[in-house]
Amino acid sequence: MDIHLTNTLSKKKELFVPITAGKVGMYHCGPTVYHFVHIGNLRAFILADITRRVFEYNNYDVAQVMNITDIGHLVSDGDDGDDKMTKGLKREGLAVTLENMLKLARKYEDVFLADIASINILKPKIVARASEHIDEDIDIIKKLAERGYTYTTSDGLYFATEHMHNYGALGGIMHTTADHSRLAENSEKKNPRDFALWKFDETKGWPSPWGQGFPGWHIECSGMSMKYLGDQFDIHTGGHDLASVHHNNEIAQSECSTEHAPFVKYWLHNEFVNIGETKMAKSGDNFITLETVREHGIDPLALRYLYLQSHYRSQVSFSWDALEASQTALHRLKKIVAAFPGDGTVSDSYQTLFHEFINDDLNTAGAIGVVWELLKNSDVSDADKKATLLDFDKVLGLELDKNPSELEIEIPENISELLKKRQDARDSKDWKSSDEIRDEIKSFGFDVKDTDEGQKVSKI
Ligand code: AMP
Ligand code: ZN
Repeated sequence: MDIHLTNTLSKKKELFVPITAGKVGMYHCGPTVYHFVHIGNLRAFILADITRRVFEYNNYDVAQVMNITDIGHLVSDGDDGDDKMTKGLKREGLAVTLENMLKLARKYEDVFLADIASINILKPKIVARASEHIDEDIDIIKKLAERGYTYTTSDGLYFATEHMHNYGALGGIMHTTADHSRLAENSEKKNPRDFALWKFDETKGWPSPWGQGFPGWHIECSGMSMKYLGDQFDIHTGGHDLASVHHNNEIAQSECSTEHAPFVKYWLHNEFVNIGETKMAKSGDNFITLETVREHGIDPLALRYLYLQSHYRSQVSFSWDALEASQTALHRLKKIVAAFPGDGTVSDSYQTLFHEFINDDLNTAGAIGVVWELLKNSDVSDADKKATLLDFDKVLGLELDKNPSELEIEIPENISELLKKRQDARDSKDWKSSDEIRDEIKSFGFDVKDTDEGQKVSKI
């Protein structure tokens, strides 16, 4: 069955035609591990996971790479100021050394890998660390220098964008005045759009033909993707905010160093997760991690269900109510599946419908609609429903074969006692005492909700 994807390069939904029949190479911009990832970041990684799962469902041989940025990601797109890892070291009161940088990176990389596992994102086949691919970066920069695309300033080696005739093709965003002025901070640049390939640092980093220092963030993604996937590959994903600068710069470096175009055939970008009108960001105060989700007593997989209900190209407005509603729906679904008998066969007609949705630009929202449609159809036996839903779950990854995991939060003894007292009050319809005890529980930092299954506690 054909697969169609919306390509940010053409801004159109296009038929997917692989570079090599039966194979697909995909690269996903991964996290910068200077802090915990937030649940907005996780949406970008769910897009990566769904892309992989859809291609596997279509029997493609998938080559998949995600990077871990553990060095070199500057805080500003204008190539000024600290890099994010340095910012992380300062935040944690650690000396700014390469050794500490890599230690900090490993700590947050471990949390990242655990986080993606708990929302059932399959570990990318290759997880590549930027700090372990410096030679690849230097090789690309050498080629760019030989071909006259670079110049030196007092703080680094830069890519001269004016030498590339179609620079900024992705989204066409780089040609706006607003973008130019935003990038015009570094006065030694010949053009505000030019960007650092290598940043000098006399005290830290790696040796290079241009002096000691660090690769730029953009070159790292070119280095790691082309090492494992070749000069040209099929799919590149990332959040929508990366398209205008980071991805246009990846294209520029890669195409100008290999003289092969296009570097990537299909660019996929997910829209943001917002809180109210504001994008969730690591630097903002609207930063929610998976740990916060757990502390609210919510199953992390509910977040996956919430995101799959929207198309990846639509914004998601996050709220705790929406997440709780997703949890209720997901747990209901799991209980239904658990009660069905086994040994059924997959329904061809529902499988086709589901397949059409996911192949149509990864329409997971439509695919979830098919799940509920199937459940309503009394012509399909329960055993066949189960077999069909477990087949769908190869893509959805909602662990429909597992019972809902009641989230375990540690409840201190005094809270357990108060809960017992409150239950007694409720059993004797003493609502006043019940409310008073709820307030007392709240004063210890716990919230109680009354559900069909009894009192449910979460941390505030
Ligand atoms: P970073 O670690 O900041 O490089 O971001 C990792 C990924 O998360 C990138 O693909 C970003 O584009 C994406 N991202 C960042 N913020 C959000 C958000 N609020 N919603 C969705 N994706 C995001
Ligand atoms: Zn990247």
